[in-house]
Amino acid sequence: MSVSDFFGENVFNLSVMKKRLPKETFKSVETTIKEGTALDAGVAEIVATAMKDWAIEKGATHFTHWFQPMTGVTAEKHDSFISPTGDGNVILEFSGKNLVRGEPDASSFPSGGLRATFEARGYTAWDPTSYAFIKDGSLCIPTAFYSYTGEALDKKTPLLRSMEAINKQALRVLKHFNSNATRVISYVGPEQEYFIVDEKLYLQRKDLMLTGRTLFGAPPAKGQEMEDHYFGQIKDRISAYMKDLDEELWKLGVCATTKHNEVAPAQHELAPIFTTANVASDNNQLTMEVMKKIAKKHGLVCLLHEKPYDGVNGSGKHNNWSIGTNTGENLFKPGKKPIENKKFLLFLAAVIKAVDEYATMLRVAVATAGNDHRLGANEAPPAIVSIFLGKQLEDVIETLKTGKVSVEETLSKISAGVDAVPLINKDLTDRNRTSPFAFTGNRFEFRMPGSAQSIAGVNSAINTAVAASLSDIADELDAGKDVMSIVIDILKKHDRVLFDGNGYSDEWVAEAEKRGLPNLKSTVEAIPELLNEKNVKAYESMNVLSRVEIESRYEILLEEYSKIINIEMLTSLEMAKQEILPACIKYVNSLAEGIKTKEAIGISVPEEKKTVTEMASLTEELTKNISELETVKSKIPHDADALEIAKYYEKDVLSAMGALRKTADTLECVVSKEFWPFPTYEDLMYRV
Ligand code: ADP
Ligand code: MG
Repeated sequence: MSVSDFFGENVFNLSVMKKRLPKETFKSVETTIKEGTALDAGVAEIVATAMKDWAIEKGATHFTHWFQPMTGVTAEKHDSFISPTGDGNVILEFSGKNLVRGEPDASSFPSGGLRATFEARGYTAWDPTSYAFIKDGSLCIPTAFYSYTGEALDKKTPLLRSMEAINKQALRVLKHFNSNATRVISYVGPEQEYFIVDEKLYLQRKDLMLTGRTLFGAPPAKGQEMEDHYFGQIKDRISAYMKDLDEELWKLGVCATTKHNEVAPAQHELAPIFTTANVASDNNQLTMEVMKKIAKKHGLVCLLHEKPYDGVNGSGKHNNWSIGTNTGENLFKPGKKPIENKKFLLFLAAVIKAVDEYATMLRVAVATAGNDHRLGANEAPPAIVSIFLGKQLEDVIETLKTGKVSVEETLSKISAGVDAVPLINKDLTDRNRTSPFAFTGNRFEFRMPGSAQSIAGVNSAINTAVAASLSDIADELDAGKDVMSIVIDILKKHDRVLFDGNGYSDEWVAEAEKRGLPNLKSTVEAIPELLNEKNVKAYESMNVLSRVEIESRYEILLEEYSKIINIEMLTSLEMAKQEILPACIKYVNSLAEGIKTKEAIGISVPEEKKTVTEMASLTEELTKNISELETVKSKIPHDADALEIAKYYEKDVLSAMGALRKTADTLECVVSKEFWPFPTYEDLMYRV
């Protein structure tokens, strides 16, 4: 059987709809999907019946509205199709109302004060622009989730609104280029990094199970220094997993295409083919879920945390983003002569302006407790947001700014220096893996998002920032300003955000400071920027988030951060008290007993005695670290506001946890492996 035989077999996609819906209905749904227009009344009833028949033929018994609350994971509540007929039998029913509207209890999801428990009504509403699919015998209907008063309670609603904003503002600009496009769409291709660990070992690590990352663990003798894992041969067990995963994703209509080993041991990547931002975001949520599920089938566990292990690279999610028209034009395609391509230059300038003006908006969109371990840690872009354009475009920009021509006019060829190897076209840009926002030829690659994050928020921010920037540009065009003077003015004003050098270097941090670029080093530092008037104004004026919604998100983000660190703190304490400390005491005692026995018969072991003394004092140190963390825990300012609490977790709790870990890791290196209570880094990273 070839892939095309089963690709999308569990998806109610356009081709299924074409076969199963009356012509009129199909046209109406197709227009909604492609043009974003409102659905005709009455269509839902017909679609619901067709969907139900299709799902039942595929063995489905239940349906669920599938939504994305602020937890960042998906939520579902399953209802069966059955309806009693009164004579002991049932019929299978699914109405237009069931399809269009659901009403989950909103009070149990994070709402940041938007919903009090006594006014818990929340609604899920069908998003026809993302296909329904079957998973585990349930028909899953992608939905938006909002409150009784219409405030977004999820990640999807703002994303859909931001796609509308891009559409509206980009069309305003395109009008000045005699374009016949009627819709502008944002596209995303997210590259998903992950770690794999053996399930049996995983189950022995409370930290991995409860927090997704190791809270203890000394570095193994071999890390990633040999650079032999990146693109290395894939182990049989991993390869079988990847194959299974691809098949499952293909059945769900997810175009998983690229897979390879990543930099760290046991780290891998999966990338799909890009699609519309909304579908890409839904698909990525589904991908993360399926990755975990299929891993279990192989006796493995898929770790999506940004930093499962200290000392080796963490995982990110490169968010490749572009905008294009419904006439098939990519608005970031430079063409053969970028310097003469006014439309391209204007859209490029719009992004440069957006990234400079809304740098903190982008920074907040990737601020999570897990991602704090990556950003700025010499493995991932710094926390400073800047743009890499590559030599050729830098030249173009220099020319435009100064009027001096220095441009390589045509794309050049590149040779391997061996005649038999064909000449290949050189790309417009080289790679710069240290840049947070890199132009990669026809799209931008935003490299800051964390691996576990939903990309909905990330793309809502990019779309909003760029839409706001396009809106300013459209105002100028409408007022009669010439395209090239708009471009040149933007380049002159915002070129501080352009940086082609090494983003990992200390010099860049100093240089960025000189340029006045914000450097928000941690999540707790970044979150307050959400309330920055400039960001609020952009979200509001682009109709993506209201002030009330932003304020609620601010609360949710801070609370989420504190909760995560709290769980990590409790887990650290439990592991230290119940596992590590007893093991160390037992080991020291057994050595001391041995020494006593030896000395009783006149064998003198002064060196061994010295070692045991050192270990005993390290164990004492561990006890001290534990009680210090206990003290820090007892002083958590529970009654303070969310920001104060988060600051306390970031400063006091994390540093006490760090001190405890340091002692424990030192002990791990000297305590017999036989006594050590859980698998070590070496086991976790190499026994897969
Ligand atoms: P890399 O070379 O950066 O590792 P990959 O091939 O792993 O690239 O992933 C690149 C991602 O970018 C893929 O998901 C791909 O579909 C996506 N992509 C390609 N073109 C575009 C585009 N115009 N807009 C958005 N995403 C795109
Ligand atoms: Mg990439």
